[in-house]
Amino acid sequence: MSLPNKILVLLIEDDLGDAQLVQIALRQSSQVQFVVTWVDSIAKAQAQLSEMVFDVALLDLSLPDSAGLATLLKLKQLSPRLPIITLTGHSDIEFALAALENGSADYLVKGDFSPDSLSRTIRYALQRNELDARNRLMVAALEAAANGIIITDYNGKIEWANSSFCHLTGYETAEILGKRPGDLVNSGKQNADFYKQMWEVILKGETWRGEIINKRKSGDLYHEELSIAPVRDEYGKVTHFIGIKEDISERKQLESVLQQLAHTDSLTGLYNRRVFVERLEQETARLARSDTSPISLLMLDLDHFKRINDNFGHAMGDSVLRHFAKLMKETIRSIDLAARLGGEEFAILLPGADKNEAIGIAERICRQTASSALPCRTDPLHYTVSIGVAQVLVHDRNTEAALHRADSALYSAKANGRNQVCWFEP
Ligand code: GH3
Ligand code: MG
Ligand code: MG
Repeated sequence: MSLPNKILVLLIEDDLGDAQLVQIALRQSSQVQFVVTWVDSIAKAQAQLSEMVFDVALLDLSLPDSAGLATLLKLKQLSPRLPIITLTGHSDIEFALAALENGSADYLVKGDFSPDSLSRTIRYALQRNELDARNRLMVAALEAAANGIIITDYNGKIEWANSSFCHLTGYETAEILGKRPGDLVNSGKQNADFYKQMWEVILKGETWRGEIINKRKSGDLYHEELSIAPVRDEYGKVTHFIGIKEDISERKQLESVLQQLAHTDSLTGLYNRRVFVERLEQETARLARSDTSPISLLMLDLDHFKRINDNFGHAMGDSVLRHFAKLMKETIRSIDLAARLGGEEFAILLPGADKNEAIGIAERICRQTASSALPCRTDPLHYTVSIGVAQVLVHDRNTEAALHRADSALYSAKANGRNQVCWFEP
């Protein structure tokens, strides 16, 4: 930190003798040049301050137009950032301490200082002032950040938080200080292991980064992108942690909507062909790896669906597709996966189901479809489905093989008169 080699001093002192002592002492300083402007009242100080900028003020508190701490406060009001050194008498030490508490940078006892100590006191006051200004700038920068920022001690207790953190979590500063972040925002969505790993990283002195689900004061959960960096002292010892938090709830929600869109069919809400084929691939690979539990596959196609569209309109056709999707979902087990492959063509993957179980499920769907009906303009609308059943085999090299068998079985069901279930016969 560099100090100017010319320091502009505003000396506010009504006693001629005291003012001269200060000026003589300052003139004797060899390291820096002090340029002194002397005034003997607060009114004259105000006039000077409106004309030029000073580096420091030396202030006698008893002036013709002001006395006591009020003098200090008036000067602070005139020039809030100007460091002020209070000049006091021998008997006024308590007063001097009160001045320090009210924003005086330091104090000097009149007649008790040497040229050296006067010059040193001024230079220290300037250095502290510059440090304070720098700190204020840092704090203002942290305050202005859009991210929530907290500073904790080594034990994780919060020493400082910016207003974005308060905004993010819904807590007031007074509720935050001295607490651990976990006391405030822990949602219970991460387990103890998660936090243990986090602490292991930061106690090693490394930065931890991750996504985390936290809880606001209101109880609402939110997704947060968090980085925690250790802060070291001049000896390299970790003394504090700084946590930077960004609310990514909106992004997460968008991601989940996009996921949903990418995986499901918007008309029926069933999985789409891509998800079905991926799952079939996984199951086929699992079977090939040694798993002995069977996997079956249903291929379903609504009968004479074109007629429904032609007779009742496309919108009614859509209602039938949604009706059938709902019926399927209600009939299958939670481990099964139902998908709309396209048009009025559906498929169901039945992990763990052998031939008989698969045929059983298929027949239940077939029966329930035939016996259910949709409310329509005049009479209830009845429709039927044909279902082909096949198994995924250990030697299937790809998903095409099983899909092809189920398709052949479906073709047989159609050829045999529809509204029925057929098992694939090679
Ligand atoms: P089959 O018993 O042989 O299966 O006869 P089908 O009439 O059901 O079969 P086809 O494949 O000839 O006709 C299927 C029809 O499904 C034709 C197409 O216009 C209709 N379709 C395809 N996608 C949709 C859809 O999203 N909504 C509606 N309403 N109709 C659709
Ligand atoms: Mg059809
Ligand atoms: Mg068809």
